[in-house]
Amino acid sequence: MEELAQLAREVNSCQKCPLYRTATHGVPGEGPADAKILFIGEAPGFYEDQQGRPFVGAAGQLLEEMLRAIGLTRRDVYITNILKHRPPGNRDPERQEIEACNEYLDRQIALLQPRLICTLGRFSMAKFFGPGSMRALHGRTVRYGTATCYALYHPAAALRDPRVKDIFAEDFRRIPQVLAQAEAAAAKAAASNEAPAAPDAPPPAEQLSLF
Ligand code: URA
Repeated sequence: MEELAQLAREVNSCQKCPLYRTATHGVPGEGPADAKILFIGEAPGFYEDQQGRPFVGAAGQLLEEMLRAIGLTRRDVYITNILKHRPPGNRDPERQEIEACNEYLDRQIALLQPRLICTLGRFSMAKFFGPGSMRALHGRTVRYGTATCYALYHPAAALRDPRVKDIFAEDFRRIPQVLAQAEAAAAKAAASNEAPAAPDAPPPAEQLSLF
């Protein structure tokens, strides 16, 4: 899709925050324009920065393994991050960086119109779910416009802690079921001609489901 390609070009020449100075490549994201599922991580790490592609390091390997377990590959889904340039030393994203980069993510969501947005880790979760701990919110869903958002742990956290890995895997295995619910919710909204919420609407307080 030309609009996604244009967005990628803009990311690659972006100077809206200082991260471009220390990064090697922008990492806009990748996947088919008609993907039903959008995964949103935190920020590129070392290998992503080298290659200009999201989730190509150890966390990406775990993500691919989890996708395989539900019958998908990374070519079936769209993968991006909250930040499109690597923070030095993989430090946490800063508020100004998240704000500067937010426009790209909003445009990606508007272009892709995913049915299901899977957040990976607390930074992408915070965009859709508001404040709350990973421990409390993982496995929950909220509505975001016409999409359903589903909070997952970050695969890097799963690699660091076997207990988190078990929870991450269990939440991940529910993706087909959550997607089916998201499809049903979207079909119902379409049938009742419900006006979709603005893509940048604040997250609704009410949760759709709790596993
Ligand atoms: N971690 C992320 O959050 N994103 C990547 O692309 C890679 C690792």
